Amino acid sequence: MRWILPSERLPEAWFNVVPELPAPLDPPLHPGTRQPVGPDDLTPLFPMALIGQEVSSDPWIDVPGEVLDVLRMWRPTPLVRARRLEEALGTPARIYYKDESVSPAGSHKPNTAVPQAFYNKQEGVARLTTETGAGQWGSALAFACALFDLDCKVYMVRASYEQKPYRRVMMETWGATVEASPVDEPDHPGSLGTAISDAVRDAAGRADSHYSLGSVLNHVLLHQTVIGLEAKEQLALAGEERPDIVIGCCGGGSNLGGLALPFVPDRDVDLLAVEPSSCPTLTAGTFDYDFGDTAGTTPLLPMYTLGRDFIPPPIHAGGLRYHGDAPIISNLVKSGRMRATAYPQGKVFEAAVQFARTQGTIPAPETGHAVRAVIDEALRAKEEGRERVILFGFSGHGLLDLQAYDDFLGGRLDQG
Ligand SMILES: *Cc1c(COP(=O)(O)O)cnc(C)c1O
Repeated sequence: MRWILPSERLPEAWFNVVPELPAPLDPPLHPGTRQPVGPDDLTPLFPMALIGQEVSSDPWIDVPGEVLDVLRMWRPTPLVRARRLEEALGTPARIYYKDESVSPAGSHKPNTAVPQAFYNKQEGVARLTTETGAGQWGSALAFACALFDLDCKVYMVRASYEQKPYRRVMMETWGATVEASPVDEPDHPGSLGTAISDAVRDAAGRADSHYSLGSVLNHVLLHQTVIGLEAKEQLALAGEERPDIVIGCCGGGSNLGGLALPFVPDRDVDLLAVEPSSCPTLTAGTFDYDFGDTAGTTPLLPMYTLGRDFIPPPIHAGGLRYHGDAPIISNLVKSGRMRATAYPQGKVFEAAVQFARTQGTIPAPETGHAVRAVIDEALRAKEEGRERVILFGFSGHGLLDLQAYDDFLGGRLDQG
């Protein structure tokens, strides 16, 4: 029920979906000139290696040996068949999940934190700044910076900073400094957008510092493709020709992209993004150029957006509270290659608890969104009496989100 690859089968090149996209990817624009941004606009924030990956159209990009050495601490991750969940649902569908919760930070996010820290170190940067919502990205980057001996400054959305002290403690344990955002408005609950503004302003103002983003950008989705590349091999070991559908929760799009992008060339594989009804970027946003942050300091990105001023309600899936989406994911949805659906929080926790009671592992609230859609797909397969192969991304565990489970079990969770 579990397929584990030996450590030498870790993919040694990332899969770049750009040449495979159904429509060309629009470039990011400079907010002043509305011309495509050039490398010079980005060098205050990112190392050249990552800028190169951001605009690359090479189909494969080699993973540096130093990065492979670190990823092998927990990769390849297991592919698991959710047999007990299938039985509980009485579905003819075969449900597989790629378990990214086994990383040191408990999610998929170290897959990109590690190469980002590596390339910055290699170019002589001493310090990275970033934002974090619920704390998952901040803890992943803090971990990666500890391994490459970089200072790390994390601006944490204030609402999470106050409600989720344990993620902050993880970041501090790995040596990072954490500050609540927005820094200049102590009564503001903050959002990913405000925290990005704080982190970008910090990095742009200091010669020794760069900025690091945990989702959305092309190079981040690129680094995450190890998930889908491994899953393809593991599905073959499980005797499956291909999945009928690949499902992932979508905040900025990195875990979904990581799993789904290697399947884009396989035209028969259905791809599904799952988001919260309270932050319905792909299902109710508009496709337009918008800023990545609230203050309007980043380049303009072509994406589905709810507007950079959109402050989502404080739902428990903090990692899905972003006003925009990755340009690559937006491109796939706009062109019809990927579908999107949205669920309210109450339905998500029902599914997450059912998963925990059958498969054991407690999903992160973000991951619960994917689980909800998986259960609904499996029930549909049952109604239609169809065998279906469902693959989904188990993006992280929920062991630091137990307050949310307590609220749900105690009937106090806002159902929206
Ligand atoms: C951050 C996070 C997400 C959402 O981010 P994406 O970039 O959309 O993947 C989803 N699940 C977990 C566990 C996360 O930590």
